[in-house]
Amino acid sequence: MKASSRVRNLPTPSVQRLPVYLRFLKEARNRGDDVVSCTRIAEEFGQRSVQVRKDLAITGVSGRPKVGYRVDELIEAIESFLGWDVKTTAFLVGVGNLGRAILNYEGFVAHGLDVVAAFDANPTLFGQEINGRLVRPLDQIAATAERLRREEGRIVEMGIVTVPARAAQPVADKLVGIGVRAIWNYAPIRLDLPSDVVYEEVKLSASFAVLTNRLRRRDVAE
Ligand code: ATP
Repeated sequence: MKASSRVRNLPTPSVQRLPVYLRFLKEARNRGDDVVSCTRIAEEFGQRSVQVRKDLAITGVSGRPKVGYRVDELIEAIESFLGWDVKTTAFLVGVGNLGRAILNYEGFVAHGLDVVAAFDANPTLFGQEINGRLVRPLDQIAATAERLRREEGRIVEMGIVTVPARAAQPVADKLVGIGVRAIWNYAPIRLDLPSDVVYEEVKLSASFAVLTNRLRRRDVAE
């Protein structure tokens, strides 16, 4: 069985560290390194090597004692585990500043993310093109998904929510209504979704709150 098809609760911090290892491994490959040891990766990131070994083991790959990991094999295993070796077709809803930033950001493209259409409720945005994607009225979302399925055989798997908090739940419900199996929520609100929909919140405000709190406490300590 492929590691990526196993359904069990995986430790989220381990999964979150994999992209960081992946970038390091790609740099190693560019330098012409064929193998890399767990200790070397651990040193690079200030981790314990036992933790790195554990993180990497969730991809199904294990290193050879005293030799390490084959760089190519590990890159392939991580990308397959993260699902970055396949295309993920997505719709984005909410073409404000954040939505635009995501549409313009090419970094996720390399990880297979393909945002094929963007939707908004503001008529002044309809017909605008952002990085090759046309902004459409939200009420065309179901028809657009259906046309994509009929004409290109593509299924929209993911919905990216970049509307304000008050609009996020109805927007997510619409996305679930067209059959998305994953919601990536940037709105600062917890969404209520069916249990078979995978869900991830990007907690921008929470992250900022932690940072400013630390900064101000440091001011006081000094
Ligand atoms: P801007 O100032 O360009 O609107 P913003 O990011 O500050 O940017 P927000 O108020 O966060 O704007 O809204 C983000 C986007 O979500 C806007 O383009 C807005 O029109 C859109 N939006 C708001 N409510 C809905 C909704 N119910 N359905 C779809 N889109 C919506």
